[in-house]
Amino acid sequence: MTNPSDKQKPLGINTRLAHAGYDPSDYYGFLNPPVVHASTVLFPDAQTMASGKQKYTYGTRGTPTSDALASAVDMLEGSAGTVLVPSGLAAVTVPLLAFLSAGDHVLFVDTIYYPTRHFADTMLTRLGIEVEYYDPHLGAGISALMRPNTKVVFTESPGSNTFEIQDIPAISAMAHEAGAIVMMDNTWATPLYFRPLDHGVDISIHAATKYPSGHSDVLLGTVSANARCWPQLLESHGTLGMCAAPDDVYQILRGLRTMGVRLDAHQKSALEIARWLETQLGVASVLHPALESHPGHDIWKRDFTGASGVFAFVLAGGGATRAQAFLDALKLFGIGYSWGGYGSLALQVNIADRTVARTDYPGPVIRLQIGLEDTADLIADLQNGFDAASA
Ligand SMILES: *Cc1c(COP(=O)(O)O)cnc(C)c1O
Repeated sequence: MTNPSDKQKPLGINTRLAHAGYDPSDYYGFLNPPVVHASTVLFPDAQTMASGKQKYTYGTRGTPTSDALASAVDMLEGSAGTVLVPSGLAAVTVPLLAFLSAGDHVLFVDTIYYPTRHFADTMLTRLGIEVEYYDPHLGAGISALMRPNTKVVFTESPGSNTFEIQDIPAISAMAHEAGAIVMMDNTWATPLYFRPLDHGVDISIHAATKYPSGHSDVLLGTVSANARCWPQLLESHGTLGMCAAPDDVYQILRGLRTMGVRLDAHQKSALEIARWLETQLGVASVLHPALESHPGHDIWKRDFTGASGVFAFVLAGGGATRAQAFLDALKLFGIGYSWGGYGSLALQVNIADRTVARTDYPGPVIRLQIGLEDTADLIADLQNGFDAASA
């Protein structure tokens, strides 16, 4: 069997997910790749070692297991190369460290994943890099913020917790005109629903902890670059020694095989529940880009091919006490961080970190991750939450 992704006629996404990255004939016909645990790799002779030409040289520099996942991700992202790192947060910090130097200026969207902001405000700032935040609704207008020393424009769309949609093609065009590169944290959409590199982004970041894992039990990050940025990303990844563990890499490749059908289910259930929430008296608004009521809906429709299973809604009034009464009444939704797994989760969002794009919501913002449970059961659970919140 040949790798179907090598064939000329484009295959459907689920077909490609099922077979990408590894050819069973490379390893005795076993359908799944071997999990290679390695530090040392032996060379046949000293001359081969000195030549530096052997494919595998040391565990930190890649194995057949990491190559299988990285090439599957390259197929999904349309990238020149992908590095694997031990967490989604490392997938954010590694490319930033790879491309920023003292004296540089970097722009981050204000609706950024909070640990990314923390990294920027502490470590990047300490290293002498000027950090500035911009409004997620700024499209081509970002050109006004570009400086001669702006090296990176960092995007994340939709925004963490509040789901603002960015005009990625417009931002990318302006950043490139000013000589900066564009990075995007694309964890929400996954490359199935948005392919950053096709829209002008240079480096696509994915917390594979979420949908590729799918079971809330593995941490991993992927960073995929276009041809222009790939050599510097690969070099920095090696320099930092930031490699991922083989069992985790294996589990993420295993998860990718079913990610298409899982995402489809997450998408359908989340949209059904979002539409139901829009009809509830206890809800002021629903922050889901696939809803016609969402301010970023038109751009989402233009650029994305789907919506995943995470969104938020605003309670109609009240404060933390009301939010906690709602959350504590839920039995199927767990209270916990992260998302992308089979189980539904809920939490009250903290947006106090925002500096340039703060929205005043009329009540607490609740984020939901819709899992693979039956939607009728999830809706009944949420109904109990609303009853408790209004009691
Ligand atoms: C979860 C998440 C990360 C970090 O992933 P971890 O594996 O939990 O470190 C980064 N970016 C976004 C948008 C995320 O949701």
